[in-house]
This record gives sequence, structure tokens and C-alpha cells, in this order.
Amino acid sequence: MKKRALNILPENSRPPAEILADMQAAKSTDTAWKEGKTWTLQYFIDEEHNELLKAAQNLYFSENYINPFLFKSILKMEKEVVGMAADLLHGDENTVGTMTSGGTESVLLAMYACREWAKKHRPSIKTPEIVAPRTIHPAFDKAAHYFGLSLRKAKVHENMAANVAAMEQLITKNTILLAASAPSFAHGILDPIPAIGQLAEKHNLLFHVDACVGGFMLPWVERLGENLPEWDFRVPSVTSMSCDLHKFGFAAKGASIVLYRNTQLFENQIFINTEYSGGIFATASLLGTRPGGTIAAAWAGFQHLGQAGYLKNAREMLAAFDQLRAGIEALPELQIIGEPCMNMLAFFTKNNQPDIYAVADFMEEKGWVVDRQQLPPSIHLTVFPYNIPVIPNYLVNLEAAVAWANAHPEASGEGNAALYGIMARIPLRGMVKENVRKVFVGAYANGNESGTSDFAEQKQATPRWMGWLSRLLAWWKN
Ligand SMILES: *Cc1c(COP(=O)(O)O)cnc(C)c1O
Repeated sequence: MKKRALNILPENSRPPAEILADMQAAKSTDTAWKEGKTWTLQYFIDEEHNELLKAAQNLYFSENYINPFLFKSILKMEKEVVGMAADLLHGDENTVGTMTSGGTESVLLAMYACREWAKKHRPSIKTPEIVAPRTIHPAFDKAAHYFGLSLRKAKVHENMAANVAAMEQLITKNTILLAASAPSFAHGILDPIPAIGQLAEKHNLLFHVDACVGGFMLPWVERLGENLPEWDFRVPSVTSMSCDLHKFGFAAKGASIVLYRNTQLFENQIFINTEYSGGIFATASLLGTRPGGTIAAAWAGFQHLGQAGYLKNAREMLAAFDQLRAGIEALPELQIIGEPCMNMLAFFTKNNQPDIYAVADFMEEKGWVVDRQQLPPSIHLTVFPYNIPVIPNYLVNLEAAVAWANAHPEASGEGNAALYGIMARIPLRGMVKENVRKVFVGAYANGNESGTSDFAEQKQATPRWMGWLSRLLAWWKN
């Protein structure tokens, strides 16, 4: 006989205060990012800004924006937010797009619209191909996977910027689109958008610039005097862009923008079903039922910060970033990857001496949340306002971490360093994939209610052979 499901809806109603107290208690074990221990993912300015976002979101808490024509005030805000973003990204009066639930949806929709465009304009192509540098965000792999596209990834230069010649070699008669990052999330490296734009022009291709993380930061970097190569609609062959409001737009979570140079490309994003018994069904983006609150919050956030507010925050984050960067560069074992174009970077240890993952373990022991990367093994840091006060402390710990890892070469075969080392360096990617799948299924499946299926939890279980394998792989990859 089937057993009952483990979670059962409470039989009776409970008082709100009690429910919220339970939630507060549960939340206290989550990552304490406001203390500045994390260096990624948590985009936040201050409480005043957040309170405004919440109030604006609450104002439209109940509205279902599935039908934009029922809520003209939301449609107006969405158009204004999209328009202001288009202006920042040097679009013109023809630039058009929508808000979405996030960067992933923006990329999915752009890839979908380009595919539909290709169906009309290049009907002989069966499987349309996208060419991108291998540093492109996984949202493009997801789009290719979901929409039956082929994503061909080009090798990149040692400084992690797109290699235009390598991209050109991957172009075939089935290629419809080039994609590149402004900048890449992992390393903060701006791809050479003008040169890739020329390539798109030469081969008559669409060109998407993924400015999910840079779209609301690079405009201020430029205004503060940095001389960046053009990275947006100023490059004439750029046909679409994505930029996340919920990153450096400092909006509420669930907000991004997809932009097109003109309506001919954009119209392909609209989904229409004329046969549904519920009436003519059409949506501008991926979702059906759609919150209006995130749009309201984004609009309110723009009004609150204004250009002056974004500039002030950018100036502070960039000054702190320079301090962090100088501190890392002062340690001879460490090297920053390429030339970061904004307040995010990745660094590794030269020739992996000492092992970067051993450095990571030491930092974790000191309470830092460490963003370990691979290909090459490295550590990622983005500077947010709440990180600014802890930078001196981070650098003191980092210096100690390098010294400790130097003195303990065996550490690369122990604990998390061994685990991450194997995952990053082992050529059997299918095996890694299946392990990650198990971790995720384990996190959601019953019988693991603590939710501690993080890789870190496997630490104690790291067997000896894993340590040997890890050190062997690290040596071999050098
Ligand atoms: C964050 C990011 C994405 C995906 O955005 P989500 O909001 O996480 O879905 C895509 N591309 C780049 C460059 C990003 O930084």
C-alpha cells in the first residue's frame, strides 16, 4: 500500500504571528550575506531602497498582469522601464522589448525569437546554430536545449575574452546568430563586441549581446571615465540584448529586460494561440500569470536612484574593487584573470601553486562564502556595497590562506579541495553530470529533510583515493 506523503497541509488555520516567527527562526541558518561574507549573487544597496521596492511591489501584490490591457498602469511602467534601459544601452526610437522574470528568461526569449525569425527568413535551415565564446552563460545552453538549437562554443583567449577568429571558424551555413557577453559573469571580462559585430555583419548574422550582469553597471563605468570598447546598441550589428534589473539594476528579484533593435525581430517573441476554448490567448513573454509587482518595484527603484544614485553606488563599488584588486595583485602567488571591466573578477594561483582549492578551503574555515570556479580553477569575487567594509579583513585572511596552502601541499588532496579538484579537473564530464543530478534529486526527494545535500556536506566522507586522484589530476592539468 502507498504510504502518505510526508508533508501534510495543516489541519487548522494558524495565527500569522506564529507562522512568521517560525519562518524567522528557520531563516536564521541561511547564509548571512549582509555581513559581507558572500561575494556573489546578492544584489543589494540598502534598507531604504529595499523598503521602497517592497512597498511598490505590495501595491501590485494581487494584480495578475497576464493581460496587460487590463492593467494600463503596469503596462505604462513596463514600457517606461524598458525605454529607460534602451536609452542607457544606446538604443533609439525603434528599440523595443519587454520585462521578464530574469536573465534566463530574457536569453530564452531572445533565442526563441531569433529561431522564429530564422524560420521565416532562412527556411532551409533545419537546426539553427548559435556561435558563442565558451564563457557564455549556461542560459544559452538551456535555450539551445529547450528550443532545439545547436550552440557551438569557440575557445577563448588566455585572458578569457572571446576569440573572434575561433568564432568565425565555427560559422556554417546553418548559423543564424552570434552571442557574446558584456561582460562574462564568471570573470567580468568584456568580449570584443565591435569585432564580433563586424563578424556578424560579414556573415549576415543576428547578434545578441548578453549584458545581464553589465547592463546596469557598464553605463556608469563609462561615465566615470573608463574608456571601454562599445558593447551595446552603438555597435550597429547588435540585434538584441539582455540586461538584468535584479542584478545591478538593484530591483526586486524576478526582473530583467530583453531588448531588440526593432519590431521585426521582437514580433517573433509574442506567442499567440487562436484556438483555445478560453478565448484568444497571447503572451508577450514566457509566463502566463504574471506578477505586476516586480515591474512596479523596478519602476520605483529607477525613480528612487536616478542616474545620480546609480553613479554614486557605482563609484563606491568601483573604488572598493580597486582596493580589493590591488590587495590580490600584491600577493605574488595570485593572478587575476584577464582585465576585468567592472566590479567583478576571478583569480587563480600561478601554475596552481599552491592549489587554489586549498586556498578556498582555508577561506571557508575563516567564515567566507567561497565561489569556486573551474576551467580554469579560480575564485570569483563581485564587490557589492555590503562587501566594502570587510575588504581589509578579507585580504588579511587571503594572505594567510596562501601562506597556509603553501605550507600544506597535502591539503589539495583533502576535504573540499579534493572534491572540487576532482569535479573541476576530471575529464569524465558525464560522471560529474550524473553526480550533480543525484545531489539535486537528493535535495528534493523525501528522506533528506535537513536539505543538507551541499557538496560541502560530503567533506568528512572524502576517501583517501579521492585525495590521491585529485592531486594527480591537479599535477597532470599543469
Ligand atoms: C545572471 C546572468 C544570466 C542569467 O540571469 P538569471 O537572472 O540568473 O536568470 C545570464 N547571463 C549573464 C552574463 C548573467 O550574469
